[in-house]
Amino acid sequence: LADALTLQPARYAALGDAFYRRVRAQPLPEPYWVGISPAAAAALGLEGAWADAHHLHALTGNTDLPGAAPIATVYSGHQFGVWAGQLGDGRALLLGERAGPGEIWEVQLKGSGRTPYSRMGDGRAVLRSSIREFLASEAMHALGIPTTRALCVIGSPAPVYRETVETAAVVTRLAPSFVRFGHFEHFASVGAWDALRGLADFVIDHFYPDCRHAHGPADTPPWHDEALDGPPPPWGTDGCANPYARLLEAVTRRTATLLAAWQAVGFCHGVMNTDNMSILGLTLDYGPYQFLDAFDARHICNHSDHTGRYAYARQPQIAYWNLHCLAQALLPLLDDAEQAHAALRPYRDTFLGALRRRMNAKLGLGTPEPGDDERQEALLRLMDADRVDYPIFWRRLTDAVAAGALSAQPEVAALALRPVRDLFLQRDAFDAWARDWRERARRDDGPDAVIARQRAANPRVVLRNHLAQLAIQRAQALDMGGVADLLHAVLHPFDEPDDPALTDFPPDWAAQLHLSCSS
Ligand code: AMP
Ligand code: MG
Ligand code: MG
Repeated sequence: LADALTLQPARYAALGDAFYRRVRAQPLPEPYWVGISPAAAAALGLEGAWADAHHLHALTGNTDLPGAAPIATVYSGHQFGVWAGQLGDGRALLLGERAGPGEIWEVQLKGSGRTPYSRMGDGRAVLRSSIREFLASEAMHALGIPTTRALCVIGSPAPVYRETVETAAVVTRLAPSFVRFGHFEHFASVGAWDALRGLADFVIDHFYPDCRHAHGPADTPPWHDEALDGPPPPWGTDGCANPYARLLEAVTRRTATLLAAWQAVGFCHGVMNTDNMSILGLTLDYGPYQFLDAFDARHICNHSDHTGRYAYARQPQIAYWNLHCLAQALLPLLDDAEQAHAALRPYRDTFLGALRRRMNAKLGLGTPEPGDDERQEALLRLMDADRVDYPIFWRRLTDAVAAGALSAQPEVAALALRPVRDLFLQRDAFDAWARDWRERARRDDGPDAVIARQRAANPRVVLRNHLAQLAIQRAQALDMGGVADLLHAVLHPFDEPDDPALTDFPPDWAAQLHLSCSS
């Protein structure tokens, strides 16, 4: 017997009328399934053949889900560094929420039609960008990177007008909460202090209960991984009785950890506006994102980002800038500005510590030692200069260790490292780097431990732009096999995929794929 997706009204709705409008989804004709994530269905506690005609229509927005009470929420934000004023869910609808086996999930449709916050937009999303969001959400989750999830994508032949005529799609997104920095900025900007406090209390009560106590346990999100994130640090705001200062610190740390995970895996978000920053430290809003192919610190994945504000290497600083916007919004709830500074201060060390651990894991190294940062930086400088393919470098380095790169015999090691060395133009510089890395790795706890760490940190398959594009083209021709196969591969990123094309260098045309904010 198949489960039914039944919902409760979102707890967010209890915040009151100032926070949202009740909206009905606008129907779409002839919906069809494009992709379904079994992993997301399991998180929701959905089993069996639940994806039937009833759910197809309900998750398109054509009919109601039992218990749903759809709302569009209001937020504001800074876009490309400039205050943009009121934005809000212009094409998203929060249907309600559902308790899964682990946590309570908000269930949201994206692309389900106009809302009071649509401004000039049509409230729709195109098939292309919906598939990209669906795949990336589930890929990031499988990589262990905090993210919103995606249950399914549904397509419709209804035309959507962008640069060309495309067709419509709706993604069902899941998150414990979709609250953004921009929600706080909104109520601060209109001087609604009671609403601001109500929102902060809502977030603390449901997601950051430890912030209520002046002393006590540090915030440890459900995805906290001691090996990669380190022991939970003591509060910088310890002894501070102001729960909102502690909230700001907790968000600061989660955001810093998230950015370390992005940088390590080579993820470029593309549109790090404050309205796309999750208060839970989740990756949120997949638009013109990209997993790096050739390593390029200055890579700009968003064709609309003319100044490179959101270039790969700038992301950690931009997140910090965005946290300052959040701090500014929270100021009316804080005792003084110094509290905000104290709460933001842990950003740098948290980010650098988390990045060090993640990069060490990719290199197979255990407990950080002095010199590790310099080794990582030297490697990235080399890769940047030679435009070394980022995912393939890590694949090959992992395979090299299994092939004897840490052998005491230099000839064996050199042979094992050949495929890695071949990625570089600067052979002498690579050899010098590799000698240093080998020494460090050999001093560690043996090749087996090195290999185990690398296999858990270096995905065999990465959701590159060209792979998504091939799946999208097949889907546009009404063949959903490419989406299903790619979803399966990115849901098991640490396993060798069946199709070797998933692990190849990108084809030349990949460089011609222009991703913009148009979605
Ligand atoms: P984004 O750049 O995707 O973060 O979107 C910024 C804002 O524009 C958000 O408030 C979105 O809800 C809204 N938006 C984006 N695309 C559309 C659309 N096609 N129709 C209505 N609103 C949209
Ligand atoms: Mg957005
Ligand atoms: Mg978007």
